[in-house]
Amino acid sequence: MAVVGAGMAGMTAAHELLRLGLRPVVHEVERIGGRMRSTPFPRHPSSVAEMGAMRFPVSSRALFHYIDTLRLATRPFPNPLAPGTPTTVVDLAGRTQWARDADDLPPVLQEVSTAWEKSLQERTELSVMRGAIQDRDTRTLKSVWNRLVTEYDDMSFWGFLASSPAFRSFRHREIFGQVGFGSGGWDTDFPNSMLEILRVVFTEADGNHVLIEGGAEQLPRGLWHRSPEDLVHWPAGTSLASLHGGTPRPGVRALRRSGSGIEVTDASGAVHPYAAVVFTPHVWTLLNRIDCDPSLLSTDEWLAVERTHYMGSSKLFVLTDRPFWRDTDPRTGRETMGMTLTDRSARGVYLFDEGPDRPGVMCLSYTWNDDSLKFATLSQRERLDVVLARLADIYPGVDIRSHIIDGPIGVTWESEPHFMGAFRANLPGQYRYQRRLFTQFAQDRADAAHGGLFLCGDDVSWTPGFAEGAVTTALNAVWGVLHRLGGRTHAANPGPGDVFDGLAPVALPYD
Ligand SMILES: Cc1cc2nc3c(=O)[nH]c(=O)nc-3n(C[C@H](O)[C@H](O)[C@H](O)COP(=O)(O)OP(=O)(O)OC[C@H]3O[C@@H](n4cnc5c(N)ncnc54)[C@H](O)[C@@H]3O)c2cc1C
Repeated sequence: MAVVGAGMAGMTAAHELLRLGLRPVVHEVERIGGRMRSTPFPRHPSSVAEMGAMRFPVSSRALFHYIDTLRLATRPFPNPLAPGTPTTVVDLAGRTQWARDADDLPPVLQEVSTAWEKSLQERTELSVMRGAIQDRDTRTLKSVWNRLVTEYDDMSFWGFLASSPAFRSFRHREIFGQVGFGSGGWDTDFPNSMLEILRVVFTEADGNHVLIEGGAEQLPRGLWHRSPEDLVHWPAGTSLASLHGGTPRPGVRALRRSGSGIEVTDASGAVHPYAAVVFTPHVWTLLNRIDCDPSLLSTDEWLAVERTHYMGSSKLFVLTDRPFWRDTDPRTGRETMGMTLTDRSARGVYLFDEGPDRPGVMCLSYTWNDDSLKFATLSQRERLDVVLARLADIYPGVDIRSHIIDGPIGVTWESEPHFMGAFRANLPGQYRYQRRLFTQFAQDRADAAHGGLFLCGDDVSWTPGFAEGAVTTALNAVWGVLHRLGGRTHAANPGPGDVFDGLAPVALPYD
């Protein structure tokens, strides 16, 4: 069968299908890795910039299964106020404050943090949900979550804050949006459904992050090259790479129904018949870049595809001669720079160093949605000028430019031709559409006329913007393919479709 897309979902699905003894044929339009894109600096290729995924919550158990399988080295990610981050600088409304840990923060930031905890505890049963996840108590989890889905699908993140007594003050809401929780400011998420935020919070995806040393792209690439030790149906040493002669097949241009299977036309014009197709790219590509037979999905599923909402995101990186930001500034006695959160256009500055004598990587700007659009039409050089000018206000006298030895390099995901957005994020009222896409793998319960195409990946996941969901939805799709081809799971180890009735996401009424 075909696997369209060689990102994390595609590589997970293909790897598991190979282990099952099937022959997955991977089609990729660009390069292996997808949004796990670690771009080498042009003149210093041993240093990479993480254009997509860069920090992985240790609670991502399915993702870590593969990180551990490949024995990839990780280390703490330099998030704001994280234990491994020497200094965090918060620049709001023209005032710059330095902090080593949360206790160092000025009182108003501590008030905001307390208001967030209080709102979650009072309105969302945070402790019960986290406890149930820890204990794998699916009964409690579902009974609380089903109620929260009904209550919050229609509410935006902003609406939740504005209706929380602890956030009565507009100023507190504003500061919360700028500084946020866990990994930084979240105000560009304010229009999104509150359910999206609750999923992040409940699964503890908002903190305790690690990075993958040498780049996140090693994960999908590692699965491509890995030969599983437990192969039963393939000769020892078989890998996805060896089955493909080293390179995935070209990208997909058309998907047509053909008998009980699906015909794939690739970019070279070649037509390949497959019994099933696992599809991982952004689902919007099914609306324009790929010529699709309408019967591949039901009318309701097509509507859900149309309604998919993406966040935009831009990133800008440079390489410096060394991690100069750790130098003590003789004027202040502090480090020269810190991980920076600002309400100005750079928004988030992340600093990565691998020792005093090695080049340092600066993510000079990480933005989402409107903040990303502010950069979208600028060249990388223009972006650099803008960001350095903003940072000069925060760090007067610090000559960042004199340390730059490579770059700038960057990305705007919403203008990448094969992506069209950074990651999905539901708006209020979109739960029902999301449910259609997430449950699409359980085709044994659906109209057989639409079977054979299995959607998975970030668009289908309940935790978009986190690679964990790309992995888990890929595993759902693998179950779907297995089932379609007449296979079954072991009775002692049921798959997602086998336990669907007990665990499926609650269906909300339509009329
Ligand atoms: C800016 C940004 C920051 C992120 N930060 C984090 C983070 O810190 N932590 C985290 O866990 N996650 C993060 N994510 C999310 C994470 O990157 C994704 O969840 C994950 O990489 C998605 O994998 P995927 O396989 O579903 O999709 P993709 O990686 O997008 O893979 C789809 C593949 O399909 C290919 N394709 C497209 N069209 C075609 C076609 N017609 N034919 C063949 N192939 C095609 C694409 O080239 C791509 O390789 C971030 C994402 C972005 C964009």
